[in-house]
Amino acid sequence: MAYKRVLLKLSGEAFGGGSVGVDPDVVASIANQVADVVRGGVQVAVVVGGGNFFRGAELQQRGMDRDRADYMGMLGTVMNCLALQDFCEKAGIDTRVQTAITMGQVAEPYIPRKAERHLEKGRLVIFGAGSGMPYFSTDTVSAQRALEIGAEVLLMGKQGTDGVYDADPRTNPQASMFSELSYDEFLARDLKVADATAISMARDYALPMIFFNLDTEGNIARAVSGEKIGTTVHA
Ligand code: UDP
Repeated sequence: MAYKRVLLKLSGEAFGGGSVGVDPDVVASIANQVADVVRGGVQVAVVVGGGNFFRGAELQQRGMDRDRADYMGMLGTVMNCLALQDFCEKAGIDTRVQTAITMGQVAEPYIPRKAERHLEKGRLVIFGAGSGMPYFSTDTVSAQRALEIGAEVLLMGKQGTDGVYDADPRTNPQASMFSELSYDEFLARDLKVADATAISMARDYALPMIFFNLDTEGNIARAVSGEKIGTTVHA
C-alpha cells in the first residue's frame, strides 16, 4: 500500500444511489470496499457527506434560513455515518463514529486524539456532522480532518464522475478529465467538483487530493494502493 493513513471523503449522493435517503445495497458495497482496505492494514478515517438528505444552499433557495438548513444538512450526514458503520461492522471491522455536534446516544464526540488512537488500533473512524458549523461543506471538513489526524492523502470519492473535468461531463460531451491538476489551476478555473475553501486549505498545507469514481468497485483500494486513478490535485 502506498499510504499508511488516509482520509476518505464519501459523497452523500453516493449513499442515496441517486435518490433521497440511503440505499442499503450501495452502502454495503462501499462498506465492503472500505473494510477490505482496513483489513489490509491501512488506517482509514472517513468523512461522510449528506447531499442525499439535505443541502443547506438548496433549502435556502426554497425559503429556509441558511443556518438552520445547514444544521439539517449536518444531521443528515450522521444518518449516513450510522449506515456506513452498520455495514462496516457486518463486514467484520471495528468502527467508531465521532460527530462534531454532540449526540452521545449514537456517537462519540469529535476528539482528534482519541480518533488517532482508534486508528492505531485498526478501527475505522467515521466523522459525522461536518464541522458542526454552518457555511462549511463536508469537503472542507475532510481537508481539515485529514490535516488534524495526520493523513497522508485526501481521497475524494465521488458519485457519477471519474475525476475532475474541465467542464461538466454530464452536459458537455467535449469535457475532458485532468489526470493531474495544481491547486492554483483548480481554483483559477473555478471548478465545482469540490468547493474552493477545501482546495485552498489543501493548498496551504500541501495536502494531496485524489478525486475518483466511487461507483467503480475496487476504486478505494486502487487509490489507497497508489494506482493512478482519477485526478490528483497537488502543488
Ligand atoms: N454542512 C454544514 N457544515 C459543515 C458540513 C456540512 O453546514 O461543516 C451542511 C451543508 O448544508 C451541506 C450539508 O451539510 O450542504 C451536506 O454536506 P455536503 O453538501 O458537503 O455533502 P455532500 O455534497 O458531500 O454529499
